[in-house]
Amino acid sequence: RARPSTPPEATFAKLRALHPDAHCELDHGSAFELLVATVLSAQTTDVLVNKVTPHLFGAYPDARSLAGAEPAEIAALLRRLGMGMFNQKARNIVGLARGLIERHGGEVPRTLAELVKLPGVGRKTANVVLGVAFGAPEGVVVDTHVQRLAQRLGWTKSDKPEQIERDLGALFPQRDRDMLSHTLVFHGRRICFARKPTCGGCGISDACPSAFRAENVGRKPPRPPRRRDAQP
Ligand code: SF4
Repeated sequence: RARPSTPPEATFAKLRALHPDAHCELDHGSAFELLVATVLSAQTTDVLVNKVTPHLFGAYPDARSLAGAEPAEIAALLRRLGMGMFNQKARNIVGLARGLIERHGGEVPRTLAELVKLPGVGRKTANVVLGVAFGAPEGVVVDTHVQRLAQRLGWTKSDKPEQIERDLGALFPQRDRDMLSHTLVFHGRRICFARKPTCGGCGISDACPSAFRAENVGRKPPRPPRRRDAQP
């Protein structure tokens, strides 16, 4: 695939102008809430997570209260609110809260190295928290949209998130990395869809090496059917 002739920073500037309101779409009132919401957002939508978190944080407002909960209570709450994989997600967030209490006095740590040691926290979640809650991203959040857009725009040749993060890190300075992720996610959700990207209405089609032939670029293989959790 050809590299784009437009420098990445120029394409990013255009994207920012197209999505000046780009931001993290997970509602949160603290680093703790953002961390839990991000863990809950795996394989579901931010819209659903935003419906669940007011109830969850109303009952369990901090790491101490969540750490003291039984995973089954949390699973019942998540299930009632329509969240899939509720047993696994309940175990993840209770384990995470217990890790915060045991290792960090209930506070959310501020480094990638400490965050990824917490149960259920990977680089993506850690980078979200560092970038959004603390304004200090160490890397780039590579979710499904960032992955697809980076490939379509010719900013990476890899389909592996860690390599894509390195490629984006080499192209963009640290100060741009948080907004880079939000902007790519906004563009992916509104214009550059996985299926049928709307290249005809895309404001960066002149800078995109995949324009009008992107349908099969950056798509993930279909997921196997999701196993439904057993009753909590
Ligand atoms: S031109 Fe098409 S493939 Fe390229 S960014 Fe725009 S919508 Fe996506």
